[in-house]
Amino acid sequence: MSIILPIAQRGEDVLKLIAAPVADTEFSTAWLQELAKALEATMLERNGVGIAAPQVYVSKRVIIVASRPNPRYPDAPEMEAITMVNPEIIAQSSQTVLGEEGCLSVPDERGQVSRAEQITVQFFSLKGEKIIQSFHGFPARIVQHEIDHLNGVLFVERI
Ligand code: ZN
Repeated sequence: MSIILPIAQRGEDVLKLIAAPVADTEFSTAWLQELAKALEATMLERNGVGIAAPQVYVSKRVIIVASRPNPRYPDAPEMEAITMVNPEIIAQSSQTVLGEEGCLSVPDERGQVSRAEQITVQFFSLKGEKIIQSFHGFPARIVQHEIDHLNGVLFVERI
């Protein structure tokens, strides 16, 4: 059983906040696991390829990145969904690429956004393990879009 959460829409205050980091004491807790499960279920139900906790009214630094082919992005590569806690871009290519983006919080609007082609992200697993991973192309775009949500920025502000 998965809980599907309502999605905050453009203009709502929760989408403009700087989300709070997940604290050391919150790793491995039931609530963090439940949040991650509900986030993923909500993302899948809306056919999204990524989601950030502020989009479900939880102003915490948790995102899910899940590139896969779908009606909106037929050429997207397939990857396992990755839940990232307290993600931080620690390196990025100077090369940028323009690509189309949409957002579950901005329905019926899409636009071309410039993003770094390659990034290296440091993040933590739900258990608090530190992970450093590099992404390029579409998955790198998703990570940048979702981290923007943690900093109160919507893609439409980058067009
Ligand atoms: Zn979004």
